[in-house]
Amino acid sequence: MSHPKYLAASAFFCLSLFVGCSEDLSAQERAQERRQWIDAATPVSDDPRRVPREPGPSGPDGSVVLRGGRVFDGTGAPARDATVVIERNRITAILPPSSSQWPTGAQVIDVSGKTIMPGLIDLHTHLTYSEPDTPAEEAGDDSAATLRAMERMRYYLESGITSVRDVASMGFVPFRLKSWVQQNRIVGPRIFAAGQIITGTGGHGAEGLWRARCEHSSPGAIREASGPDDWREAVREQFKRGADLIKLASHYSRDEVQAAVKEAHALGLKVTVDAETFYIQWAVEAGVDSVEHPLPRTAETIRLMARKHVDSVPTLVPYIYIFDLDGGYFDSTSRRFSFSKDANFAMFRRLKSAGVRLGVGTDLVANWFRYLPQAYITELQQFVAGGYSVPAALVAATRTNAEILDVDDKLGTLTPGKLADVLVINGQPDVRLEDLAKIALVIRDGRIVVTDGRITIPPHVPVPEPKPKGAAQ
Ligand SMILES: [Zn+2]
Repeated sequence: MSHPKYLAASAFFCLSLFVGCSEDLSAQERAQERRQWIDAATPVSDDPRRVPREPGPSGPDGSVVLRGGRVFDGTGAPARDATVVIERNRITAILPPSSSQWPTGAQVIDVSGKTIMPGLIDLHTHLTYSEPDTPAEEAGDDSAATLRAMERMRYYLESGITSVRDVASMGFVPFRLKSWVQQNRIVGPRIFAAGQIITGTGGHGAEGLWRARCEHSSPGAIREASGPDDWREAVREQFKRGADLIKLASHYSRDEVQAAVKEAHALGLKVTVDAETFYIQWAVEAGVDSVEHPLPRTAETIRLMARKHVDSVPTLVPYIYIFDLDGGYFDSTSRRFSFSKDANFAMFRRLKSAGVRLGVGTDLVANWFRYLPQAYITELQQFVAGGYSVPAALVAATRTNAEILDVDDKLGTLTPGKLADVLVINGQPDVRLEDLAKIALVIRDGRIVVTDGRITIPPHVPVPEPKPKGAAQ
């Protein structure tokens, strides 16, 4: 692992054998440390839990070759002319334009004049939340929640978003969808799910005054907890469902957030937090891995985030919509401060200049997913306005997001050996961000799932009827 956090943790692990425990910041337990127990030759699941799997081929039969395009590989290198070779569900080679060293029988697609790049990742989604006009009887209904997610997954995938980190959804729905997408029984992005938000009684998402509004939009997605033991139990409940990470929200006491973070890290799960004010400081001290939203935080907290390599997913775009559509953020008893669009953008710049690693997430609640792909592009445009180059914004959306998800060994760049989540764009998005809207092809897990901007589902392959027993073969 190249992540400085992991190196620091490993270095301390060795050192601590000799000098014992200290207050060193790197002493904190990390979810990634679980990786040391997996033999490098053992195949593991394609998610941060790295569950060992039986060896054997995965992905579709055959090979796909994307020839004649310019490759923006997500590593930070400039785009170059090259050919991408995909075998089953893996990228196996990036060839110079003159080479044709691909397997015989490969499906060769001419992508001349187009850009090939890694699939985008959205680190902040809620696949199941209801919309403002959702009928009350559907809001808390698992079957309606599943259908809402199915509709949303189409928007994400057709926008080139091949992975989503779902940071609160109803019940088992995100886990069932994840499994069906993995099995290729339905078409959608990869789902990395947190399960429910864990919050204090009456905390964010479960506020008293806001209760009717919150329960309408996110029923079943909030787990109120009280006391360190219950916070620990709430983490285990999400783990039991299959969580890929844990999402906490204020409010909490120091010992509650410490208990939850310690338990999650022991289970190999990263923790992200949706909090504000001193709660962020407490969460960062407790060892969370990332902080959502551009919510107010002090200079001291920002310094500590940078020092402890705590990431931030600023999600500027939903707050732009909140201010533009509602005029502000009102009536929440858990957001006990006021803020503005300008203050949020200033927070983004402060985080960036402090050296905090920033990921890309859109938090498209209500009906804002209907603004895709522009909603995602708007978030990236904020990154550019805040000092990123256009290519650097795309690296944040791909490689950095994979690092924050703890799946950068499998996703995020076009590198031989990684999973084949690949986009072909009718344009040069590394030059003009707006070109990201011109999706020609989306390949997820080695399968072409979007052609000419729309989801493509191959015809089903019928299974022959069984022959009566004793019939001639
Ligand atoms: Zn959210």
